[in-house]
Amino acid sequence: MTLLLFSMLLALLAAAFVVRPLVARRDALLVDVAPGAVLDAEARRRVALVALKELEYDYLGGKLDAADYRTQKERLSMEALAAMRAAEAVGIESGRVAAGPDRHACGFMNPPLSRFCAGCGARLR
Ligand SMILES: [Zn+2]
Repeated sequence: MTLLLFSMLLALLAAAFVVRPLVARRDALLVDVAPGAVLDAEARRRVALVALKELEYDYLGGKLDAADYRTQKERLSMEALAAMRAAEAVGIESGRVAAGPDRHACGFMNPPLSRFCAGCGARLR
């Protein structure tokens, strides 16, 4: 009986040892995430800039004629500008400035305490 209890206790300790890092990691991720508005504005800024870059590639690759390129570029530029202004406004609102510790040199705004930049992969700390 004592052996059975001892082995059950050992099994529980082993299970707790295995599961603990998973639970601790999940807690850390929940705590580290930046405010939702900041991440949302940053995502919109990046999407708008990527769309502009893809439009440029499509035009240079001959998929678009000049008239379509001009109209789409004008529309996407306005969207990108609005997204950049929104990202800047939200960043300033939440106490982050453009050159704050969370914005990497490549322009990507990383969540606080990030070890690597999610935009370019460079080591941050
Ligand atoms: Zn970066």
